[in-house]
Order: sequence, then C-alpha cells, then structure tokens
Amino acid sequence: MNTSPSGRLIVISGPSGVGKTTIVESILESTPSVFSVSATTRSARSGEVDGVDYHFVDRGSFKAMVASGEILEWAEYGGNLYGTLRSSVQPILESGRNVILDIENEGAKQIRASCPEALLIFVVPPDLETLAGRLAGRGDTAQSDMALRLAVAVEQIAEAPEVYDHIVENADLEHATKKVLDIVGAEGTVFPVQ
Ligand code: ADP
Ligand code: 5GP
Repeated sequence: MNTSPSGRLIVISGPSGVGKTTIVESILESTPSVFSVSATTRSARSGEVDGVDYHFVDRGSFKAMVASGEILEWAEYGGNLYGTLRSSVQPILESGRNVILDIENEGAKQIRASCPEALLIFVVPPDLETLAGRLAGRGDTAQSDMALRLAVAVEQIAEAPEVYDHIVENADLEHATKKVLDIVGAEGTVFPVQ
C-alpha cells in the first residue's frame, strides 16, 4: 500500500488488558487520527456496540470478506477471527489523517509486510500479575478466557522485540500515554487535517 503523501498507519498492540484502549483514546484526542473498527466473529461483550467497537459478523461473512479482498490483515485469536477492513484504512490515510489499529502480533506482521512505513508500537505490562489484575478488574472476561489471554500474552511479549518499532511499558498510565504520544508526535503525524 502506498500511503504517501498521507496520514500514517499506527499499530498499537499488546496483551489483552494492558491498557491499549485507554492509550488509543488519548491519541485520538491529541492527534488527527481515526480508530479503525475491525471485523470480528467474537460475540459482543456487554456494553459493546456494533459498528463502534467492532463490526460483529459471522464466520461465513468474515471468510467472504477475506476472499473478496476487503480485509487488509486478519488473524485468529482465542478461537475467533479478527480483521482490519481496507475501507477503514485507505480513505482515512488519503485524507491526511492517521489510522490507529489495535491488533495482535500476527496482524502486525502482515501490516509490516504490506505497509513498511507503518509505525508499530507494543505496550507491555510491568509484570504478568499486574496484567491479570487489570483483566480481572475490567470485569468483562470469563475465567476460562482469562487463562487463555494470559498464556497468549506470554508468547506475544516474547516475540514483540522482533516485530515492533517501539516497546512501551504501561506501569503508570500517564507516563505510558505520554511516551506513546511522543513517539507518534515525532514519527506519526505527517500532514495536518485539511
Ligand atoms: P486493552 O485495551 O489493552 O485490553 P484496557 O485499555 O481496556 O486494555 O485496560 C484494561 C484495564 O486496565 C482498564 O480497566 C484500564 O482502566 C486499566 N488500566 C490501563 N492502564 C492502567 C495503568 N497504567 N494502571 C492501572 N490500570 C490501568
Ligand atoms: P478483544 O477480544 O479483547 O477485543 O481482542 C482480542 C485481540 O484481538 C487483541 O489482541 C486485539 O488487539 C486483537 N484484534 C482486534 N482487532 C483485530 C484485527 O482487526 N486484526 C488482528 N489481527 N487483531 C485484532
């Protein structure tokens, strides 16, 4: 994908519960950026809104979108499919705004291959106990799902240095958010919104 001259594709990745959503909200408030709403086959959690948090689709529809080339990258996570719609990315970049993707490692690798100029940031917890506490504190993840997410987290953290441009620890939220904004400010915003 040729994204120049245009906004920047910014990937914010990291284990479930590490604080990505919270950090992304700050980026959206502080930079000319748009969050890319992914498609997923997972069921909506309480409070999640179709078209806002995700486009909730069945497996057949997801596979059809992959086959028709509508999906820029996709991966399976916890038995569900997740993918980025090209239509959520290309028009926004062309309008000069950044696009933020909250995706896992396999998707980040696909973005690295198809869009080498993308900015890839991985958020890590100070330790796994803290991560488990945050996931539990959010109160929307079943106990069985929690174990799986923590196991996946260990793998994601181990391979992060090979995949990402920057690794930011989220111990103190304000500090982590500032660090991400510094990276995005220094490298992420190419053109202001017209
Ligand atoms: P993710 O999007 O990575 O799954 P969230 O942004 O939903 O994670 O954060 C998970 C929970 O952890 C939320 O309740 C959030 O308020 C909390 N949280 C995020 N960062 C911190 C932090 N630095 N210290 C304490 N709690 C945090
Ligand atoms: P959750 O079920 O907690 O919303 O998301 C689970 C994981 O899927 C998270 O690591 C999140 O970053 C990832 N994810 C969400 N959307 C996408 C997507 O479009 N593509 C990929 N590859 N991963 C995604």
